[in-house]
Formats: sequence, structure tokens, C-alpha cells
Amino acid sequence: MTTAQPRILIIGGGFGGLFTTLELAGAGEVTLISDEDHFLFTPMLYEYLSGEVEEWHIAPNYKELLDERVNFVCGRVTGIDLAAQTVTLGDAPEALDYDILVLSVGGLSNYAGVEGAEQFAIPFRKIAHADLLRHRMVEALDRVPPNLPPQDTRRALTFAVVGAGASGAELSTKMADLLRDAFKRRALSGEPRVLVIEMGDKVVPGMGEPIREFVEEALNKSRVEVHTLTRVVRLTEKTLTFEHQGVQTEVETAAVVWAGGVRVNPLIDELDIDKTNRGLILVEPTLQVRSHENVFALGDIAFYKDASPTLAGTAQLAFQQAGLAARNVRAFVAGHGLQTKHFEELGEAVSLGTERAAVLAGGKAFGGPLARQARFALYTSRLPTWHHRLRVGASWFFEGTVPRPLLTLGIQRNS
Ligand SMILES: Cc1cc2nc3c(=O)[nH]c(=O)nc-3n(C[C@H](O)[C@H](O)[C@H](O)COP(=O)(O)OP(=O)(O)OC[C@H]3O[C@@H](n4cnc5c(N)ncnc54)[C@H](O)[C@@H]3O)c2cc1C
Repeated sequence: MTTAQPRILIIGGGFGGLFTTLELAGAGEVTLISDEDHFLFTPMLYEYLSGEVEEWHIAPNYKELLDERVNFVCGRVTGIDLAAQTVTLGDAPEALDYDILVLSVGGLSNYAGVEGAEQFAIPFRKIAHADLLRHRMVEALDRVPPNLPPQDTRRALTFAVVGAGASGAELSTKMADLLRDAFKRRALSGEPRVLVIEMGDKVVPGMGEPIREFVEEALNKSRVEVHTLTRVVRLTEKTLTFEHQGVQTEVETAAVVWAGGVRVNPLIDELDIDKTNRGLILVEPTLQVRSHENVFALGDIAFYKDASPTLAGTAQLAFQQAGLAARNVRAFVAGHGLQTKHFEELGEAVSLGTERAAVLAGGKAFGGPLARQARFALYTSRLPTWHHRLRVGASWFFEGTVPRPLLTLGIQRNS
């Protein structure tokens, strides 16, 4: 590649795309296209739900993160023509040309064809989803008068989370703690009900035994009702039906949150390139797309062979791959040889309710409030850019990370 200013187009500003872009600034005419105006540090979306962190901490605007050497285009890419080397944006009249393309559009919630799921469940992947869930929790609480009998209160305040992976465990313990706190503040009788429905035979199936023990203990402490070997059959606006050992049960629900898996972005489905049977792009060890040496793919849409299997579909992997992608794009531009890398697990950290967490580092797991502090410290170091890290670190250190209670809608609006 000999062009003086190669046009480098990066699609998707998540863990893969943003960190690649940051490292590519100045390497050519670099453009990041993403369909939101902000990055999202997804591992802390649970803390945003509970109000332990604020939107600006975990969802900084790209304009704050990118310098003048990078163009940012906020828009949805609707088509990619690999032969013509162009990308089409939703409502733009003309396609954008590129010399080098980096694909990092991530995944979407996978509803696995469950009846009513896409229509009625709340996904949990964006700030807007956390806002909606919080709103639904407050609305449901506001409908319950303090003198309602405990069994009616429990029925009116039943929430379900589908999937007991790390996401389902983190979400359900957060929701249960927030709701229990609201019960005390509002002097409601009885207790809320939070169910987790899991098809497999255990919670957090992708995680090792040491951390699972902490997760199970936290689910127990937060009084989350775990249903393993159970399949969600159907959702309606106000009910969820699940099946266990051939018996179907219908429960009334105030909200159902979907944490039941990820599917590949439809934009990738349309590309005629080599993929796995799950639709992931088969990339070379250099992250190049097979038969398209000027196209790189990483993160949740790519299948990379030389990575520890537990890393599949994680921010950890996308983040590590971003370094390799950026180095290889620069090498490609300069006409140098491209590198490969083995990706290792960097450790695990899960938030468990509003007071605890569990962390696995250096092969050792620990839990409780100390792990919660460690998780905050660890994630401060993983946020994008030094400037943002310093601002957020100072805010967490000096202003604290206390949950925001589920006050009534009227009070929340005025506060
Ligand atoms: C709630 C939650 C918690 C998580 N917690 C953890 C965790 O604790 N640890 C961990 O390792 N992983 C975690 N993950 C997984 C992690 O977020 C993903 O693996 C990681 O974000 C993948 O990075 P990516 O760059 O492939 O995609 P993403 O980070 O999803 O980024 C994709 C980007 O592309 C944009 N985009 C999509 N389609 C288009 C389009 N057509 N046009 C333009 N832009 C588009 C999206 O808006 C997004 O900005 C979590 C995920 C979620 C949802």
C-alpha cells in the first residue's frame, strides 16, 4: 500500500472499533462511523442502572475522546461493498470510499425465536435500555400502595431476567438489591420477586468454579430465584411462561430483561465472506478477512482461533484485538509484515448487587465489598483515554459510588 494518505474507515465505535481508532489517529485519513454519539463501557451498565455511576463516566461522547486527526461520523452503516470498497450510510446520498476497512460492529440480543421476546423483553446493551428498565421498575413500584397485602405486592413486583450468564447474574442481583431498598424506603410489605431463567444446569456457565461460588452466594443473599434447566416459552406484555421438566408455568411480570445471548450483526450476515456456522467472520491470525487483505475484523463479529476459548464474545478480547488491528493496519499501510498474537484471559470481575463483587485475578478469586472496590479500580484503568480515566477516577474517589434509590417518578424528575 503506497497511498500518501490512505483512507481508513472503522465501522462501530465499541471496544474493538474505538480502541483501534485511538491507536490509528494520524496513520492516514482516519474515519470512525458509529450509530451512537458515545462509546459505552458495557461492563458497568449494571452500575449505571443502579446509579452507582453516571452516564458521563461510562458513556463518554466520541468528541471528547477523539482528537482532530480523526473524523467521526454518527450514522448507521446499511451496506458494505467489498469489491467497490465503499460503505453506505443510512440516509447519506453518496457512499464513502475506503482503502482500508476495519469491521467492529459487535452483536445484538439473540431472542432465539422465543414467542413475544423481541416485542416485550427489554434488551440490556445500551444506556437507553438501562434507562427503560429503571423507569419500568419505578413505575411498577409507584403502582403499589403501602397497604397492599404482601402476596399482591410480590405479584405486582415480579421481574424476570432471561439467562444466567455473567450478565444475568449481575443484572438480577442489582435489580433485587435496588428493589429491596425501595421496599424499605416506601414501607411496602413483603418482598419483591426477581427470577432468573437459565436453560443450562448452572449459573455463569462460562466462568470457573471459584468465581461461581461467589455468584451463587450473592444470588442467594439478594434472594434471587434461580431456575436452571428451564426454558422460556413465551412472553406477553405482562407475563412470562417457562417450562421445566415438561411442565409450563406462567408468571405475571412487571418487566422481563433479556440477557439470553448475542447474535451477529445483520450487516455482517449480508457479506459474502468466509464465516463459521454461527455467522462469525473467519479472520486470519492477523485479523484480516480471508481473501480481502485490506479488510480487518475484530470483536464480537470475528472468530479468532488463537484466543483462550473463554474470551469469545468479551470486551477483553475486543480490547486486546484492537491493539493488534491498529498495529497491523499501520504495517499494511507501510508495506511491512503483519503480526499475529495469542490472546489470554486477563481475569474476571463481576458486580454482584449494589454492595459486592467478585474478582478473579492471578488464578485467585475474592469477593465482597473489597472486590467491589477492586473492580472500580480495575475498570478505571480500562476506560478510554488518560484524560477520561483521570476525570472519572477523581469523581469515583472524591464523590463516591453510592447507588441512587428508586424514588417515585415525580421525585426523580424534580431531583
Ligand atoms: C451489559 C453488558 C455487559 C458486558 N460486560 C462485559 C464484561 O464485564 N466483560 C467483558 O469482557 N465483556 C462484557 N460484555 C461484552 C462486551 O461488551 C462485548 O464483547 C464487546 O463490547 C465487543 O466489542 P465489539 O467492538 O465487538 O462490539 P461493541 O462494543 O458492541 O461495539 C459495536 C459498535 O458498533 C456500533 N454499530 C453497530 N451496528 C452499526 C452499524 N450498522 N453502523 C454503525 N455502527 C454500528 C454499535 O453502536 C457499537 O458502538 C458485556 C456486554 C454487555 C451488553
